[in-house]
Order: sequence, then C-alpha cells, then structure tokens
Amino acid sequence: MLDILRKQLARNYQHPFYRKKFDEAGMKPENIKSLKDFQKLPFMTRDDLNAAFESERFGGFMRNDVVRVNFSPSGTGLIPILQTARDVEVMDNVNARAFERAGVSMNDVVMITFSYHIFIAGLNFHGGMERLGAKVVPLGPGSTERALEIAEMVKPTVLISNPSFALKLAGEGLDGLNSFIAAGEPFTSVEGYREKVKNAFNGATMIDYYGMAECLPIACECKYENGLHVIDDFVHVEIIDPDTGEVLEEGERGEVVVTHLNKDAMPMQRFRTGDLSMIERFECDCGKTLTMPRGVFGRTDEMYKVKGVKFYPSQLNLVLKGFPELTGKFRAIIKRTEKGTDYLEVEVEGQESVDHRKLEEAMKNALLISPNKITIVDRLEKDREVVDLRY
Ligand SMILES: [Zn+2]
Repeated sequence: MLDILRKQLARNYQHPFYRKKFDEAGMKPENIKSLKDFQKLPFMTRDDLNAAFESERFGGFMRNDVVRVNFSPSGTGLIPILQTARDVEVMDNVNARAFERAGVSMNDVVMITFSYHIFIAGLNFHGGMERLGAKVVPLGPGSTERALEIAEMVKPTVLISNPSFALKLAGEGLDGLNSFIAAGEPFTSVEGYREKVKNAFNGATMIDYYGMAECLPIACECKYENGLHVIDDFVHVEIIDPDTGEVLEEGERGEVVVTHLNKDAMPMQRFRTGDLSMIERFECDCGKTLTMPRGVFGRTDEMYKVKGVKFYPSQLNLVLKGFPELTGKFRAIIKRTEKGTDYLEVEVEGQESVDHRKLEEAMKNALLISPNKITIVDRLEKDREVVDLRY
C-alpha cells in the first residue's frame, strides 16, 4: 500500500494545490517513508476546494485528458468533480470487483434509481455494473409507478437505490431480488434497518455501499454481510479525532479521512469527509480485512463532549429507529452535577411499552456512554434537540 501511496503523492506534488500542502509541512514526497510521515501532511477540506474554484475556473484542476465533469453539493453551492478517461476506467474496475464480491454476476439484471445528471451516483454504479457484464437498467430517480412498470418488464435481480425508496417499492409489490445495494442514506448503521429491508425482499442479500462525489467508491459490503469493506486498492482511509486531527487507533470512532491511491484528476489527499465511522480489521471469507463494521453513523458537524466521551446526537437517531414503539424524536439534556461531573438525560417520544433495558443497552453500545436517565414521553416538540446546560 505504501508504495502505491507514495507514487500517488509524487504525482500530486507536481500540482501547486498539493505542493502547498507539502510545503506547509516542510516535506517532499521522497521524505515519506512510512504512514507516520504521511500523517504529517496537512488535511484537505471542502473549504480548500471552494477557495480553489473561486480563484480559478475549474480550480486549476483541469487537464487535457479530463472527459467528465460531475458536481458535488457543497454547503450552499456545487463543486465540480473532474474525471479523466483513465479515472473513469479505474473507478469502473474497482466497482466491478466490489460488486462481484457482493455476489453480483453478468447474469443479473440491475435496476439503478440514482440520478445520472449533474451528480455522479448513477454513473458510478452504472459503469461498474457494465464492466462486470451485468444487464443494467438506468432508471434514475422518479415515480414509483414508472419504476414498478419497468420492473414488471425486466424483472430485476439487483436493485440499487436508497433504502427508503427500496422499502416503498417492496411495499408496492417489487420482489424477486437476489440482492439490494444501498447508498445515499444511513443503512447498516441504523439499528434493525437491514433486517427490515431484508424481510421486505424475502431474505435477499443486503449490501451497504459508501462513497461520496469527491471520492468514489470508498467502501462496499460483500455477500457475507459483515459490514462495509474499505476498497483499499483505491482509497486509503484514516479515522481521526475531529477536534485534534490526531489519527485514531482501529476500533475508535472518529472522522473519515480519505486519500486516493489511483487518481489523475483532482485526487483527494487526506480529505476530511465530515463523516463519522470506525475501522476494524478481521478476516472476512471474501478475503477483505479492513472494515467499517458499524457503517457511517453521522456527521461531525454536531458534537458534544459528555463525561469525556464525544457524543454525536445523530447516533441517538439511528438507535431510536430500531425501536418500533418509538417515533425517533428525542431531547438530550446535558447538565453538570454538584460534584462537577456530567449528567446526560435523554427524553424519547413513544410508548411506555418499549423494552427499557434493551433501549438502555442499545444507547450505551452506540454512544459509548450510559445516559443517567432515560424518560419515555408522549410528545416532544422538536424532532431532535440537544440542550447543553453546563455552560
Ligand atoms: Zn467480506
């Protein structure tokens, strides 16, 4: 891995945008002899990209061999994402191999409901599936009726869509799938969501997929359903403490940082995604080891430190979705006790009949802290609210 990484970094260094990052660290590509050295390079952010695109058309990233311009939604605007012909080929190849590990073959009929224009999602899946030789139906987003009408004709065996739309289609009678590939929304990170969609499709294989416009793909599950495997021949993933930027150990929760290993136009180099996950290593039967076992469970935008642990309210959201007696609405109150310790109280909206012990256990597992008090209430005003009374 280090060899491929160093080759990519040497190529990046030829470009002023990346050279500036090396200069900031007082380094040159040849100084990078280990991952420790690599970790001295400053991060790249969406603000960096915005600044580049504001100062120059295509941010100075345009090259003669670019053949495609997609966009990434970024805060208030759009960031162009450039791909050379070779970039598209590499992306298609790594996706094809990931889909193969997911159990898809050339005999499958694949229906894709992601958008094909402006954004890259639809094309990303399409290219990989075509490379695999599968029969791809580029449906794009649209009405349920139209999707069902076409499904009736082509009898898809693989569906690629966001999980909520998949559930809707299942509810309207879509069946016969061998596998479902989920993207665009939290899936395996949501308690009980995988089982729900799996049941709706009579036990079809559930594949979670993770990528973003700036870097596609990042991780994809295999047919053994053991969690998102990092596509480690295409991207190097680090998990960092969003506060300090320190690289965290495997098993620790933090922000996902990605570095392209094989990209010509606009490669990401220690790019801060703002997504939260964790990485673990285990031997999966498919041969992959590096895994994000709990998927992507939130964004770094909102974070509180409670009892010395980082508390991400978005995680609470995912836990509550696993309990049908609860609506998902919550109010978290953080206080300080007289002794000076933190006190976390969580109010959740729903029925008193919910299994309190199971709820407590699920919260503790996800948040890594036990709330001091959990109250079930009939009604909450807001969907989610965090009240920090400590300061
Ligand atoms: Zn696997």
